Amino acid sequence: MSEVSRLLAHARGNESASVFGLVRTVERMRGRPLTVRESAELAPGTFGLWRNGHDRDEVLYAPWVAAPDRTVAHELGHIVLGHHGLPVEEAARHTLPSEWHDMASFMLRQCGQDSGGDEDLLQLERDAEGFASELCRRISGVGRARSARIRSHFNEIL
Ligand SMILES: [Zn+2]
Repeated sequence: MSEVSRLLAHARGNESASVFGLVRTVERMRGRPLTVRESAELAPGTFGLWRNGHDRDEVLYAPWVAAPDRTVAHELGHIVLGHHGLPVEEAARHTLPSEWHDMASFMLRQCGQDSGGDEDLLQLERDAEGFASELCRRISGVGRARSARIRSHFNEIL
C-alpha cells in the first residue's frame, strides 16, 4: 500500500476531496496540530517549508506559487513519508536568504545521513514529489466521482 493510499484510507467525510482537506487527516494521524498558511517570509525560490515544532507542525507556502495545493501536497509528502522537517528555530533562521546555502547540509544532518550529499537530499525531494503527484492525481479522480455522486443524489431528492 502506498503512503498516498494509507493517507486516503484515514480520511473522513470529504477530507479526501482536496489537499487542504487532507491536512486534517494528517493532523489526526499524527495526533498533533498542523497548520497551513501562506507566508512571505520564505527564502527566494522556496515554494514551501515544513516546520517541525515540539508539539505542532506548520506548513508554509510562498504567496507566488501557482498551485498552493500542489506545494502543500509536497510538504505533506515529507511529513507522511517520515522525513524530519526543520525545527522551528532552524526554520526561522533558514528563511533568511544568507542562510539558504546551509539548508542542504542541515537537512541531511536532520535525516541522519552523513554521506552522499546532494544525492540523498535530491532523493528526499523526489520522494516528496512522487507523493504529491500521486496524491493530486488521485484527488482529481475522487473529486470527479464525488461530484457525480452528489449530482445523482440531488437528482433523487429533487
Ligand atoms: Zn521538499
